[in-house]
Amino acid sequence: MSHYRGEDAPYWQGLAEGRLLLPRCASCGRWTWPAAHRCGQCGATDMRWEELPMRASVFAWTRTWHRFGLTEGLELPFTSIVAEIDGCGIRLYGRLTDPDRIDPKIGEPLTGAIGATRVGDETIPTILWSRL
Ligand SMILES: [Zn+2]
Repeated sequence: MSHYRGEDAPYWQGLAEGRLLLPRCASCGRWTWPAAHRCGQCGATDMRWEELPMRASVFAWTRTWHRFGLTEGLELPFTSIVAEIDGCGIRLYGRLTDPDRIDPKIGEPLTGAIGATRVGDETIPTILWSRL
C-alpha cells in the first residue's frame, strides 16, 4: 500500500513510478489542481487521474543563491521553476537542470524526468525539468 496520503496521493505515487498523473473531471473534462475530490466547475465527484507526457513550458522561475531551511540537500545555486504542463494548463513547482546558469525564458519548452529531492530527512520524488 502507498504511504502517500491525501487528495494528491496519486500524483506522488505516479512520480514514484516514473509517471506524471494529474486529475481531470470525468464529467466535464476540466483539469483540476490542487487535487480535489470534487470538480470546481461542475460539482461532479468522478475525478480521474490521467497520465501526461512530461512536457511543459516555463511560466515563472527564480534562482536561489542563499540557503534556507530544508534545502541542505541541494547544491547552490539552484533554479526553481513553475512549469505549465502541456495539454492541461496545470502549473507545477519544480526544479530546472541548470548547470550553466542560463536564465530561462518565459514560455521556453521543457522536458521532464523524475529525480529526487532531499527535504530534511526525507527523499521525495521530483520532476527535474530540462530545456529541449
Ligand atoms: Zn467537472
